[in-house]
Amino acid sequence: MTTTQAIAHQLAEVINRYSTDYIEARFEESQTSYISYRGRELDSIGRASAIGGNVRAMVKGAWGFVSFNDFNELPGRVELAIRQAQFAGNEESQLAPAEPVVDTSAMAQDKNPVVIPLAEKKQLLDEYNDIIWHTPKLQTAIIDYGDSYKKVIFLNSLGSYIEQDRADVTLRLTAIATQDNEVQQAGLSLGSRGDFSLIQGRHQQVGQMAQLAVELLSAPQVKGGEYTVVLDPVLAGVFAHEAFGHLSESDFVYENDRVRQIMTLGRRFGSDELNIVDNATIPGLRGSYKYDDEGVPATKTYLITEGKLVGRLHSRETAAKMKEKPTGNARAINYCYPPIVRMTNTYIEPGAASFDELIGDIKEGIYVKNWYGGTTSMEMFTFSAGEAYMIRHGKLAEPLRPVVLTGNVFTTLMNIDGIGNDLEMNQGGGCGKGEQVPLPVSNGSPHIRIRHCLVGGR
Ligand SMILES: [Zn+2]
Repeated sequence: MTTTQAIAHQLAEVINRYSTDYIEARFEESQTSYISYRGRELDSIGRASAIGGNVRAMVKGAWGFVSFNDFNELPGRVELAIRQAQFAGNEESQLAPAEPVVDTSAMAQDKNPVVIPLAEKKQLLDEYNDIIWHTPKLQTAIIDYGDSYKKVIFLNSLGSYIEQDRADVTLRLTAIATQDNEVQQAGLSLGSRGDFSLIQGRHQQVGQMAQLAVELLSAPQVKGGEYTVVLDPVLAGVFAHEAFGHLSESDFVYENDRVRQIMTLGRRFGSDELNIVDNATIPGLRGSYKYDDEGVPATKTYLITEGKLVGRLHSRETAAKMKEKPTGNARAINYCYPPIVRMTNTYIEPGAASFDELIGDIKEGIYVKNWYGGTTSMEMFTFSAGEAYMIRHGKLAEPLRPVVLTGNVFTTLMNIDGIGNDLEMNQGGGCGKGEQVPLPVSNGSPHIRIRHCLVGGR
């Protein structure tokens, strides 16, 4: 038994002696490694490890939360969390019922990428960096690699005791090309649930990314206006997550009258062909897990079925307050934070159309690929695509400078009139909410076609 396990077991035995409505604790041991390049040079390389935990207590509807690094401080920290909750509590505690779970089998599921020698990781990144630097007109490059392996023990006053592990790998590359006063860039985001081999052998993709940055220098700017637009799985997946998914997070829905009115279950948001899901139960994806950070089993939650809003994402608290069922979506980025309602793997389910069918009857439209950046504000979104091509008479035509898509998410969902059969999950993203960023998630979609989409130049 490790020290952390021994301490967790001790706490599990005494946790019910405290006077609370609910109390839980989370202990974490993590290892990370990182390598980054700025320009041609290595910027940083190293490894780190951390150990810590937290206690969260609920008394009369209020939470107390305290994190710590030194396990010797634990008794005092437990009492502090309880005092915080007692001080603020003045109503009835509401938490949706959850079954106690005892499970230590979720440990040692993931490969630990941190143990792969740094030299081996650096060798791969050197190769990618060389490819970028050998591309003519390339001005500079940015490369950020990170991996982690984390063991987490969770216990609560219901009698749950869960040991889980989680591994993560991310690689983000950006190539920047210049000519005269022009600057263009292209990026590639890769990730996996701890499997380093999934970011190996991407030399060709890295070369294409660098080449794209150069080609954009001479590409024409789009003529702004309304177009029929086809989104690739990456951009459509980001749209599902950023524009729609965050509005399905029940803490946000509960606290925001306007969103609560809009997000009425049963309301039509799209065509019969539209299904949007958040699913933490798919093995091997970055957003997957067996239990969330409240010890609730992961679920597959339909948000939209056949065009209608049918569900949303919950913690135990939001489920109780909204009189719905918990969905196992309470997540924290690490032990320093309490869990909040988050997405996992969010995607649009595949339809029937092939890519050729989607573009086949478009006289003049735009094919947009890849995510470059963007913002959302309530139901409005502005997204930059990393790549864009004209569609002319049913065929892909000339490349364009990167474009910006702007719109209202609900109008845009209604305007989806074609859903491809080629679902792909993008593992390169990270989600931010409040201070908790980046949380490992994945997004996905097949190609989708949207009518009347407002397109402008970057
Ligand atoms: Zn997000």
